[in-house]
Amino acid sequence: MEIIKSIKEMRLWSDGCRRRGQTIVLVPTMGYLHDGHLSLMREGRRHGDKVVVSIFVNPTQFGPGEDLSTYPRDLERDFNLAKDAGADIIFTPNAWDVYPQGFDTFINQEKLPDHLCGLSRPGHFKGVMTVVAKLFHMVAPQVAIFGEKDFQQLAIIRRMVTDLNFDIQIISHPTVRESDGLAMSSRNSKLSSEQRKSALSLNLALQNAQKLLNEGETRSDRLIQTATDLILSYPGTSVDYIHICDPDSLENVSTITGPAVMALAIKVGPVRLIDNMILTT
Ligand code: AMP
Repeated sequence: MEIIKSIKEMRLWSDGCRRRGQTIVLVPTMGYLHDGHLSLMREGRRHGDKVVVSIFVNPTQFGPGEDLSTYPRDLERDFNLAKDAGADIIFTPNAWDVYPQGFDTFINQEKLPDHLCGLSRPGHFKGVMTVVAKLFHMVAPQVAIFGEKDFQQLAIIRRMVTDLNFDIQIISHPTVRESDGLAMSSRNSKLSSEQRKSALSLNLALQNAQKLLNEGETRSDRLIQTATDLILSYPGTSVDYIHICDPDSLENVSTITGPAVMALAIKVGPVRLIDNMILTT
């Protein structure tokens, strides 16, 4: 496995692969890798000849007061994990190369960011789309893999790829969970053992909503209220949002008549966690 920092070198490597007719798969991450990320890499291996893992904590997707400076980082550990998972290249560009002085061009979308995390993190998806589009240009992959844990991000990237004619196949991978159901996240490392117990409430609330739906409760407001009560019964939790929405448009649905996404963002102590589940009737 090779580590590439320079954008120019990344391009040269990709040009070489493309000339040889090899398919490049990109797995974009912010590092502090866990088994969710590693599953994306293993999925990537199935879709191409070379797997590039980008590790870049993207400053433009963090708002003021968010956890950019405290986001967990450990490149040495990440290199070893990615190597074992079969990555060919780790691409770790510097922030000042990605965003040169005077940087002033961003990508935006009109509708999808106006829901879920986009409401509580204004500008977040503008930063995500911009960095993903830039990584697509730098790495020139034919395939890119994204996790379903970030459901809204996945929907937005798919829309961007279609709208801006990126010739890149987007593949999604299901959420990887700890054995007790907690969705893996780099931010889990910031939880105390007490908070870690409270964090279980996210998955429990989603599971419970599906159970109530199976029993005939199709009203979203009832399901959301029950989920809210369940989560708030755990110490140190506060609800940013819980929504039940259409999987394509992300518009809220009031009565569940077909597949709908229950998505939530919860703070456990200072740590903001997200999770989601497709509810099926
Ligand atoms: P991040 O490093 O959090 O920006 O995530 C990088 C990629 O890994 C994104 O496509 C995420 O959706 C995906 N990802 C993060 N956590 C998980 C997980 N628990 N299971 C599957 N994919 C994940």
